[in-house]
Amino acid sequence: MKAAVMRGEQRIEIEDVPTPEPGPGQVLIKVKYSGLCGSDVHRFQYGMAEPGSIMGHEFCGEVAAVGTDVNGWKEGDRVVGGGGANPDGIPRPTAGARYSARTVGFKSPGWGGFAEFALMDDWRPLRLPDNVSWETAVLTEPCAIAVHAVRRSAFRVGDQVVVMGAGPIGLLTQQVLQAGGASAVYVSEPAPARAEAARKLGATEVFDPIKTDVVSTIVELSDGLGVPLAFDCAAARPTLQQGLEMVRRGGEVTVISMAWEDVPLLTVEWIGREVEMKASYGSTPEDWRIVLGLMEQGKIDSGPMVGPESFISFDEMQATLTRLMTPQDDIQSVLAP
Ligand SMILES: [Zn+2]
Repeated sequence: MKAAVMRGEQRIEIEDVPTPEPGPGQVLIKVKYSGLCGSDVHRFQYGMAEPGSIMGHEFCGEVAAVGTDVNGWKEGDRVVGGGGANPDGIPRPTAGARYSARTVGFKSPGWGGFAEFALMDDWRPLRLPDNVSWETAVLTEPCAIAVHAVRRSAFRVGDQVVVMGAGPIGLLTQQVLQAGGASAVYVSEPAPARAEAARKLGATEVFDPIKTDVVSTIVELSDGLGVPLAFDCAAARPTLQQGLEMVRRGGEVTVISMAWEDVPLLTVEWIGREVEMKASYGSTPEDWRIVLGLMEQGKIDSGPMVGPESFISFDEMQATLTRLMTPQDDIQSVLAP
């Protein structure tokens, strides 16, 4: 099979590798779509992926073969490649006791979704509801990140909220908040195509933080007090400070995106208002099940996020990952093997 194999810092090679065969308790998935995640870009950029590994943890496809002792799966079943709960006796896979990271879908080096086929233990994939399209299904993992963050936050139905950054995680956080009954979702995003996607998905208002003083605008829109909650999905240098300033006294900022550089903070402004800061990382099997439920109910719209311009072939992997190392206006790149 064809696979995109990591061969060093900022180097990914398209290679012919043996198609894995499912052993006992394993399923082989024919990958339909595989999303390129910001974390894949970071691993590519900073040489964090083991040489020889196949990245890609946001994929969907069809069961192509099952090993012995596999119950519940047959050829042709539509699945997302992850989100299953580890059975009793199999320890919850984590990146170590000091971190919340839960390995989702594959272990590096191993068979990730940037390949024609991916091999998994039979408990790992989840079944796709019949009415969920492949274009929507490929967003399941990032949407689970958004659900995890909203459920960790102090969000309550009827709240006015701000989402900073309208990349995939921001646009999905926006949709989860809308589905959860936010009274207003304001989005802050400088890139025109991303801002347009936020508008199409029903944002109450979208602000360009380069042209607008977002903090004073948001405070004005929320009775001069600030919003109860803001979500940092940008990891841009100014966004965390902006978030801490735009929430009301006792408000909360949930940080989802990871900055790989120093982020300046002026503490006097928000300590005086006893603002809370909360981190959100990864997702749990419960979050994935909630996502598939929201998708089945039509609450997650992939239309403005995954379009014809999203799809790339193996031959475009190296160039696309390289291009995504610097901020771009496009929304979601998807490998169609
Ligand atoms: Zn991801």
